[in-house]
Amino acid sequence: MGTTVFERRIPQPSVIEHALGGTSHSTFWIDDLPEALKPSRPKLGGTVVADLVVVGGGYTGLWTALLAKERNPDAHIVLVEAKRVGWAASGRNGGFCEASLTHGDENGKARWPKEMDVLHRLGMENLDAIEASEAKFGMDFHFERTGQLAPAVEEHQVEWLRDWADEAASNGEAEDIVFLDEAAVQASVNSPTYLAGVWEKRTNGMLHPARLAAELARVVEERGVEIFEHSPVRRLETPGSTGAVSVVTDGGRVDAKHAVLATNVFPSLLKRNRLMTVPVYDYVLMTEPLSAEQLASIGWNDRQGIGDMANQFHYYRLSKDNRILFGGYDAIYNYGRKVRESYENRPESWQRLGSHFFTTFPQLEGLRFSHQWAGAIDTSTQFTAFFGTARDHRVAYAAGFTGLGVGSTRFAAETMLDLLERRENERTTLEMVRKRPLPFPPEPAAAIGINATRWSLDRADHNRGKRNVLLKTLDALGLGFDS
Ligand SMILES: Cc1cc2nc3c(=O)[nH]c(=O)nc-3n(C[C@H](O)[C@H](O)[C@H](O)COP(=O)(O)OP(=O)(O)OC[C@H]3O[C@@H](n4cnc5c(N)ncnc54)[C@H](O)[C@@H]3O)c2cc1C
Repeated sequence: MGTTVFERRIPQPSVIEHALGGTSHSTFWIDDLPEALKPSRPKLGGTVVADLVVVGGGYTGLWTALLAKERNPDAHIVLVEAKRVGWAASGRNGGFCEASLTHGDENGKARWPKEMDVLHRLGMENLDAIEASEAKFGMDFHFERTGQLAPAVEEHQVEWLRDWADEAASNGEAEDIVFLDEAAVQASVNSPTYLAGVWEKRTNGMLHPARLAAELARVVEERGVEIFEHSPVRRLETPGSTGAVSVVTDGGRVDAKHAVLATNVFPSLLKRNRLMTVPVYDYVLMTEPLSAEQLASIGWNDRQGIGDMANQFHYYRLSKDNRILFGGYDAIYNYGRKVRESYENRPESWQRLGSHFFTTFPQLEGLRFSHQWAGAIDTSTQFTAFFGTARDHRVAYAAGFTGLGVGSTRFAAETMLDLLERRENERTTLEMVRKRPLPFPPEPAAAIGINATRWSLDRADHNRGKRNVLLKTLDALGLGFDS
């Protein structure tokens, strides 16, 4: 087996020790919110009557509330959140807001080849709408339409990038998907690990994750949506013929005509969805702000989001105040598919990320990491969200964005509202929306399958591995992953 660049160019241990010396274990994005954007909100108590009740205060739930108000400004909408708005994945992600609704073209082409043109267009429209929503609703979530840079860090990846750019050129996308050779990519972002790159200029925007959630909450409250926090919903009730649905917490209930479940990777309130997602833990570092000199040593004037080409990839980006967020690579599945705070503490993952960071940018030696955190990736067997309705169309759900939900949760919100209204349109007639993927198998098969896949991905990265090996491996495992 070969070695990867991160094993060949290891920084001095003292550099990493210094950088991680005073790092605080908390999510930078949430710490960075101004007080005005984190008002305290009441717990649900007594009985509240509404037209629509939304369970979950991440992007999926918040976009649902906002778009439902857009469709029907007089509707009474209530959102019930177990902890605080945006505390989970929506407040702690990388902030890559991608157009893709299918977790990348390759996954989409493998599963819904006939729908890819429509999915591609709907994804771009969705991203354009998110970009436009800052001005439309008076929000500020630091959106920058920078696109995304995919650097090759191993020789065999250069060829993939060439194929990608050639295919884009033959589809008339040469202006938006640009191949950069070694000199050009290093002139753009100066890392000695880069051998080539593809810059997709339009398909991605960068944003401040916690601000997006907090601003959505502010805007929906201004429009009359009631938000209750610290109110975990324990169950759904859909009594026989009344045509209503109730969500019940320890201290209260909401009786509504419709409910949207936006609970993502957390245990579903519907039994049928309990095995549909698993949490896979992802780890993140944030540096202190770079000085002008440090920034100049990298360049990065176009401020693209960056994701390298390995199966176990790193993602990194600049914040508005010129810190670098650096995450990914390790993806840890814990036996038993639980979401637990204790899984968020994994010093070896931050050590590894720190090492890979200084391999990528050795000129930044001396820089420190101010924050470290982790979060659960909302993994489904088709690597992108699934949709559906339950209880005689009174309830709609979408979950399982598999680490690519910053953009596609807005699309999911539109789709769930369509489904509740029984609309037949471009979204609801998609196979991706109509057909549910298979669930994960129960333990121990889930742990064996997921960990074997991770092992194969790592092996592939050490052995000129192809990116789509992920899909092949899951299918070959025969654990029913192939939908
Ligand atoms: C570390 C990390 C990095 C990521 N990076 C990116 C990225 O760069 N780009 C990208 O596109 N995606 C990324 N993702 C994925 C993205 O963050 C998610 O797909 C997206 O935030 C999902 O939003 P959501 O609203 O569906 O879920 P969440 O944000 O998880 O919200 C679900 C909410 O439901 C609430 N809830 C659950 N059960 C109940 C209940 N019974 N009662 C009441 N409330 C309940 C929870 O408390 C939670 O607030 C990343 C994820 C992580 C963890």
